Amino acid sequence: MITINHFINGTYTEPAGGEYLDGFNPAIGAVYSKIAKGNAADVQKAVDAAKTAFPAWKAMPAEDRFCILNAIAEGIEANLDELAAAESRDQGKPFWLSKTEMQRASQNFRFFATAAVHFASESHQTDTRAINYTLRQPVGIVGCISPWNLPLYLFTWKIAPALAAGNCVVAKPSEFTPHTAHMLCEIANKASLPPGVLNVVHGLGSACGQAIVEHPEIKAISFTGGTATGKHIASVAAPMFKKLSLELGGKNPNIIFDDADLNEAVKTSVRSSFLNQGEICLCGSRVFVHTRVYDAFKTALLQEVAKMQVGDPFDEKTHVGAIVSKPQFEKVLSYIELAKQEGGTVLCGGHAVKPNGFENGWYIAPTIIEGLDANCRTNTEEIFGPVITLLSFETEEEVLNMANGTAYGLAATLWTRDLKRAHRMAEALQSGIVWVNCWLLRDLRTPFGGVKQSGVGREGGWEAMRFFTEPKNVCIAY
Ligand code: NAD
Repeated sequence: MITINHFINGTYTEPAGGEYLDGFNPAIGAVYSKIAKGNAADVQKAVDAAKTAFPAWKAMPAEDRFCILNAIAEGIEANLDELAAAESRDQGKPFWLSKTEMQRASQNFRFFATAAVHFASESHQTDTRAINYTLRQPVGIVGCISPWNLPLYLFTWKIAPALAAGNCVVAKPSEFTPHTAHMLCEIANKASLPPGVLNVVHGLGSACGQAIVEHPEIKAISFTGGTATGKHIASVAAPMFKKLSLELGGKNPNIIFDDADLNEAVKTSVRSSFLNQGEICLCGSRVFVHTRVYDAFKTALLQEVAKMQVGDPFDEKTHVGAIVSKPQFEKVLSYIELAKQEGGTVLCGGHAVKPNGFENGWYIAPTIIEGLDANCRTNTEEIFGPVITLLSFETEEEVLNMANGTAYGLAATLWTRDLKRAHRMAEALQSGIVWVNCWLLRDLRTPFGGVKQSGVGREGGWEAMRFFTEPKNVCIAY
């Protein structure tokens, strides 16, 4: 049994209340770890440590901060296989995918290590013989709260810029997938990150997460997770005038026009639908296909999906691993039932899978449903699993109305060879990110985030560095 304790002031620390949560391996549906059940007293200890560490960390030359953060990036790479194995065991995703994500977690640290030394502020010369310059100072102690779908990747995506900008961090990974964040703490120690600069607490969102959001000395909250949780966090943090970055749910459209390269569109749509069991906020869960190519696309997609293997995350032939938790597994299955009640036809999948030797794990076959109205619940609510719907359209206007017809606006994908149409659509889609003829092609410098109920604020590149700093204008007359 693995024990996951808090990491406070550079030391693994038992929870103040002495209680632990069960950590499950979703591939076999069994408990394999115990996770510190943090409360407000643990968060207070973490804040105290962060407060003590802050003056020296803030004053450290950027060049030195760069060296430490870069050493963390190297530490992740040096432990890539162990981290990836832990991620797959905790989350259920295929091991080959975990390896890619660990690589990306390392890149997050490397990227923001360099941001620490390249981040520059603006200056403005004023006509009335004055110069203004902007001081960008760290916010202080910041809270970073992350979800279970891309555990270490999203955890590092927040804490790396927070640290690079000179803040001390109190972070909480998801209680479903805390293992790699726990392992990262040891890597941080080996990289000589000073004690108290990064503190990681574990436990339920409603207790431990809530204590972070409520703490008066935590000045900014960077949160990634569900829209309902984000709404609640905003209601607590906004009256305290905290800086808030919210990366929330999505119901992303994947639009295939009749002039698209269908081979490419099918190949990529298999990934954008089912990668990581469909548990990526950027997955395209509503696939809109032009009527002229609907049948050809559907046939080709079904052929590809039929080849997908569901099962053991450590089998290298596995495409779709286990669903992260029993509640999520049940939620996804309930949405498949709802889709049937709403009149949908299940073209493939639609059921749980019990792979040999893994009968107690939580597996769902990749599921494609057609025949649903664009406004039904299946097509407007986030499912967050290996389930997509197919819808047909005739005109740009029609598909835009349907694509924009949900409360969400995170990412959209479109497939067309018509350049003018691509620009028109990119402009009109209500979405924080638009991919044209590709999906999940990421550049860490670009703004990342959503509109409408998919979030507030942007992460990535300078956006993240700006979020984690407080700008101060200094005006000097001469
Ligand atoms: P969740 O909202 O249940 O939990 C996310 C985190 O918030 C967890 O660490 C949880 O413990 C914590 N939390 C829960 N209640 C809290 C509270 N009251 N105060 C403070 N913290 C609290 O989300 P989840 O189920 O872990 O993740 C899935 C969701 O995340 C999906 O909706 C998905 O779309 C979204 N997501 C969004 C992005 C993005 O970049 N927009 C990326 C990944 C996932």
